Amino acid sequence: VFLHEEVPSLNVVHISPEMAPVSKVGGLADVVYGLTQELAIRGNNVEIILPKYDNMRYDHIYGLCESFHDLWVPWYDGAIHCTVYFGFVHERKCFFIEPHSQDNFFNRGKYYGEQDDVWRFAFFSRAAMEFLLQSGKRPDIIHCHDWHTGLVPVYLWEIYEHMGLGNSRVCYTIHNFKHQGMCGGELLEATGLHRPEHYFDKSRLGDDHHDGALNLMKGGIVYSNFVTTVSPTHAREVRDMGQGFGLESTLQTHAPKYGGVLNGIDYEAWNPQSDKHLAAQYNADTVGKKYDNKRALRERLLLADNEKPIIAHIGRLDPQKGLELVRHAIFHCVNNGAQFVLLGSSPEPSINAYFWHLKNEINENPDCHLEIGFDEDLARLIYAGSDMMLVPSRFEPCGLTQLISMRYGTVPVVRAVGGLADTVFDKDYSHVELNKRNGYVFHEDSYTGVETALSRAIACYYQYPDHFRHLMLNAMKTDYSWNVPGQHYLNIYNHIRKK
Ligand code: ADP
Repeated sequence: VFLHEEVPSLNVVHISPEMAPVSKVGGLADVVYGLTQELAIRGNNVEIILPKYDNMRYDHIYGLCESFHDLWVPWYDGAIHCTVYFGFVHERKCFFIEPHSQDNFFNRGKYYGEQDDVWRFAFFSRAAMEFLLQSGKRPDIIHCHDWHTGLVPVYLWEIYEHMGLGNSRVCYTIHNFKHQGMCGGELLEATGLHRPEHYFDKSRLGDDHHDGALNLMKGGIVYSNFVTTVSPTHAREVRDMGQGFGLESTLQTHAPKYGGVLNGIDYEAWNPQSDKHLAAQYNADTVGKKYDNKRALRERLLLADNEKPIIAHIGRLDPQKGLELVRHAIFHCVNNGAQFVLLGSSPEPSINAYFWHLKNEINENPDCHLEIGFDEDLARLIYAGSDMMLVPSRFEPCGLTQLISMRYGTVPVVRAVGGLADTVFDKDYSHVELNKRNGYVFHEDSYTGVETALSRAIACYYQYPDHFRHLMLNAMKTDYSWNVPGQHYLNIYNHIRKK
């Protein structure tokens, strides 16, 4: 007789500013979407609390209805009236918080980039906690994300513990250390965290490098029971190698409760075998059909139909992504027997303008197309129709584009930082066995660095097509689903939950 060790099912609530596909800005949205489903499949009760943005993809919400009418959320000396809606997003149980006040916190036609972002998400965090309290939810685990929800554990241990939420424990995941949510003391009045000398203390929310500033991400780290970032290499880079944007010493102080868990991708949402946006669906056994997608991509973007490989870049146009190297690579590829496709956008008008300028300069070339905008359907055709995906980031906490590319048999060409270093193994120089090598890697943040990797990839494509095909299949076979990371998070939850 086998005796299973009894693993209790947990009540887990994710509090997040984004979730794919309803409110997606970047990888954080995909992580919340994928991880919550994995946790639910494993028998846990999982709910997600999100802001009710006016510009969400409502077509992905099923059965949206009012679920909690009178949520009064303390704010300054009064309270803001909120309505909480419930709806399913591809089977995930989601609550959407809608505040009714002149601030119009989530009716801005966009997710981020407003003057009062810190206020908007400090309010959202408070509202989420108040909702847990008033609706009687008593989760074992509250999992919150990025600077936006850094105040969640602060509220929990400073306010809500004493009101009946003392059995909850918090896991805090940082997807990007660059944005930390900094503000002055006025926020304390709004949030009801009244003792400035207490919160400004450098052992709590006081920023280490800006006197008089509160740092919400720092608060999240200090007050959480466990802190993760999204890959083991990035966890080391930010704590020990100066890439923590000023949070290094906080992470060192809290090192025993800190670690890296590699992201997965949702293998149902990203599946070339069932993806309706492709011209032809395929798997590792029918990978030849990738070329139908290549042809469709060329038709859609008016690219020449020739024997050249297509090299793509998809991403936010943020300096973090190595934009100088992306620009350089476009010219390098076009001049060295390859085609280039870029899909990207930025909330920053000057960066968009720069890429529009570049587009005007080069778009006449039949081997190049730059698409400035956010378009998930096109992204899917690019993942399927390209031969290689360039990710030359300066820093990359995990990176999902290389994972999605591999799932679609598109060979990643990446710089060895953060999660890219943990997931892509160079065809020629890696320490892993041959059948695990799945792409091309360069180290130096320089034109020479990106050129050598691209040139090796292009040469292999032309001269050793069998080897290149092998790489594609290795990439497709690697398991980057949520299966393994889902178990890691459950281990963390079980480690911190109240026993
Ligand atoms: P980050 O979180 O830094 O933006 P990730 O690589 O972790 O980067 O995640 C990026 C996600 O956003 C991927 O799913 C990618 O396909 C998607 N994405 C980024 N830019 C665009 C765009 N312009 N159009 C469509 N999808 C995009």
